[in-house]
Amino acid sequence: MRTTVGIIGAGPAGLLLARLLHNAGIESVVLESRDRAYVEQRQRAGILEQGTVDVLRAAGAAERMDREGLRHDGIELRFAGKRHRVDFPALTGGRSVMVYAQTEVCKDLIALQLKQGGPLLFEAEALAVEDAESARPRVRFTYEGREDVLECDYVVGCDGFWGVARKAVPAELSRVFERTYPFGWLGILADVPPSHDELVYARHDRGFALLSMRSPAVSRLYLQVPQGTDAQAWSDEEIWDELERRFATDDDWRLRRGPITSKSVTPMRSYVHEPMRHGRVFLAGDAAHIVPPTGAKGLNLAVGDVVTFARALAYEKETGSSELLDAYSETCLRRVWQAERFSYDMTTLLHRDPDATPFEDRIQLARLERVATTRAAETDLAEGYTGFPLE
Ligand SMILES: Cc1cc2nc3c(=O)[nH]c(=O)nc-3n(C[C@H](O)[C@H](O)[C@H](O)COP(=O)(O)OP(=O)(O)OC[C@H]3O[C@@H](n4cnc5c(N)ncnc54)[C@H](O)[C@@H]3O)c2cc1C
Repeated sequence: MRTTVGIIGAGPAGLLLARLLHNAGIESVVLESRDRAYVEQRQRAGILEQGTVDVLRAAGAAERMDREGLRHDGIELRFAGKRHRVDFPALTGGRSVMVYAQTEVCKDLIALQLKQGGPLLFEAEALAVEDAESARPRVRFTYEGREDVLECDYVVGCDGFWGVARKAVPAELSRVFERTYPFGWLGILADVPPSHDELVYARHDRGFALLSMRSPAVSRLYLQVPQGTDAQAWSDEEIWDELERRFATDDDWRLRRGPITSKSVTPMRSYVHEPMRHGRVFLAGDAAHIVPPTGAKGLNLAVGDVVTFARALAYEKETGSSELLDAYSETCLRRVWQAERFSYDMTTLLHRDPDATPFEDRIQLARLERVATTRAAETDLAEGYTGFPLE
């Protein structure tokens, strides 16, 4: 098998890249190790930055998002029983975010790809990327019980944190920057209308909690739990009781309860692999970097990477210059590190570190108070949340 761009992974990064290349008249083949139902149902992110929304619209993949997505103009911070709303458009010159689940973004992109795009092979597992430094890198993969080879001009590893593409960068050239946190998120989906019309980020002495939503009828809620927690060890009632405690306010706000349809624990990690390119192999999305979900940046960073790659390749096709492809890693990493910083700031601002001293607890509350009372600090949060511009 032969193509121009071999894409490993059909998460948001791989699927959007295939779409962008198709629109630019560039051939690609997508290899995805899981089946279609699994990819379409995997619960993950749900907040699209303004820039991601713009990219999906320009790519012709936003019809359902514009119909069903929920535009949000702010978030609420909750701490010490108080509520503070951050007004995004007022602080950022009109920017907002869209609540539209990653599952839905993937469904829309898969449907488009199967209708109009190049091959998208499910249950096709990449085993290794070879000859990264040559003009013809290759992906060895298994499909329908046989081993095969995809010969490419370029390979883009969109295969997530556990994928194989990153191994194409020789160990002596790789640099890894990493931080793990001593807690994770217990996330639930519940068939109940959200108790608030915007996301609520709550800092509480018992730990962080987040109120979010997937639609006007489905709530998505999270609790900070110790690292290694088993989601099934929490009964539904214990989860609701704990959410109620952490969201409690001084006014008459009430949390709505409903049937829980899914429970899972997500670990929290910050991770960056440099460089994001070796020879003709490029890394995009979670294959190159992970952020803790507090800043809602993972999916949006993946979008930034593939837009950068697609533009660079289209530029080479038009002008014959590889200047933008050569700058890929540096260009992406500038944005990645801003998102890493923002996600780290949001995480340490809102979570209860089990080893925090009483002094550090007071400092955390003082940081929140500053966001709530100072326009400069509030603007910094609003700009980070609605997203860093694509270069
Ligand atoms: C459990 C979890 C929960 C998350 N929750 C949130 C959240 O609440 N909020 C938020 O903002 N972000 C969240 N994120 C982050 C966000 O979902 C990711 O940043 C986003 O999915 C990145 O997209 P991607 O396409 O780079 O990688 P992925 O979505 O991981 O896609 C990679 C794809 O590659 C495939 N693949 C892997 N190896 C191979 C192989 N060898 N051959 C072929 N295919 C392969 C995988 O099956 C997968 O489909 C979460 C991430 C995880 C893992």
